[in-house]
Amino acid sequence: MEKLAIDGGTPVRSKPLPPPFRGSMLIGEEETNAVSNVLAAQSPFRYYGPNMQYAVQTLEDLIAKDLNIPYVLGVTSCTAGLVVAMKALGIGYGDKVIVPANTFVATAGAVVSSNAVPVYVDMDESLNMDPDDLERVYDEEVKAIIVVHINGSACDMDKIMAFAKKRDLYVIEDVAQSQGCTYKGRICGTIGDIGVFSFQMNKMLTAGEGGAVVTSNPELFERAVRYHDQGSFRDKDRYQIDPKFVMSGQNYRMSELTGAVMIEQWKKLGTIIGTMRKHHRNIRAAIAAELPDVKFRAAADDDGDIGCVLGIVHPTLERARAYASAMKAENVSTHSMYDGVPVYKIPCFFEQRTAEKDNFPYNYPFKKPVIYTEDMCPKCVDLLGRITITLISPILTDEEADEIARAAVKVLKALDAKAGAGAHS
Ligand SMILES: *Cc1c(COP(=O)(O)O)cnc(C)c1O
Repeated sequence: MEKLAIDGGTPVRSKPLPPPFRGSMLIGEEETNAVSNVLAAQSPFRYYGPNMQYAVQTLEDLIAKDLNIPYVLGVTSCTAGLVVAMKALGIGYGDKVIVPANTFVATAGAVVSSNAVPVYVDMDESLNMDPDDLERVYDEEVKAIIVVHINGSACDMDKIMAFAKKRDLYVIEDVAQSQGCTYKGRICGTIGDIGVFSFQMNKMLTAGEGGAVVTSNPELFERAVRYHDQGSFRDKDRYQIDPKFVMSGQNYRMSELTGAVMIEQWKKLGTIIGTMRKHHRNIRAAIAAELPDVKFRAAADDDGDIGCVLGIVHPTLERARAYASAMKAENVSTHSMYDGVPVYKIPCFFEQRTAEKDNFPYNYPFKKPVIYTEDMCPKCVDLLGRITITLISPILTDEEADEIARAAVKVLKALDAKAGAGAHS
């Protein structure tokens, strides 16, 4: 038995893995030149300028073509995009929106910013929403489900879409963490009514900030365009839509600088996903060859997973924590998502606190009051901390991917041995 680094042994790797960012680690001359061109043209705004480059429009057309979807809108962030999506769908004060218990704060925060109130659906071993829990949170004041394809892997869309159809709910897909992931051959973000992507630093592709909203529905698109641009629809020629939705809006417009970077990033998505998938496959195969009983994170569609994390389900929280600490000592950074805390347990959501004096929008007199309890999503409470993730990046070498597998095998075997010894003592 190899001595673990955490117990004074030699670590599998002598230094930490390279930074785990994806698209940002592949930023190169292409992005630099693209930004320079926009600046040289002195036209960093998408709708007018002395020498327009149409970078955002080019990006939107590129995404539309690759996703095979007619309408794409660049926005400032995924959070903004989620708000735009809800306003396009007419969701607001007095509405409830189903949000997964395991997601980043932005998903729930965007619901509150849209003046609606989140209700939370439980999670399963895929780290994604448990579609069998949807009925529990449904009532007639619920208008939509925000499906979050978390950490590279698709939700169980057949079940979710069937439920949405039965209950007449809109479906918004939050694809912030899973750009490029597919479900049964369909691209995530194009399955529900509206899909939203993120181009923030920590995501698969990045310009530092940015996002995109996609839909097949021209009316939703027009409403989205209006809400994101102060209520106006400047692009009538391009889409030939008869404007009839007058509303006040916000400014969530994408800058040409972002657009220029994102065109180059977008072209790299195939390479990024291809490399991560290869490493993910090889790492799991190497672990399973040594430890056939290891339980990997479940997946609704394993083939569509983009491979951005290695997920392992541990039998107990203590064991997951011991694994993560030991992996870190081997120089393979490993953790549980969001420190094992479901999003609804974060105080601002749990205590229903907003920036408003009267606690708007939680103050709406709902027929069925929205009451949160600590254990309302018991599977998420139980599982989130028990599932560890190790980030896989597209700049890992085959050697580094192999070291991740070797560290996992080394640590799992040692923890098994310790547990065995404990059981006999
Ligand atoms: C990062 C993230 C967002 C927010 O994206 P921004 O572009 O930073 O606004 C939304 N949802 C999920 C699941 C995320 O991980």
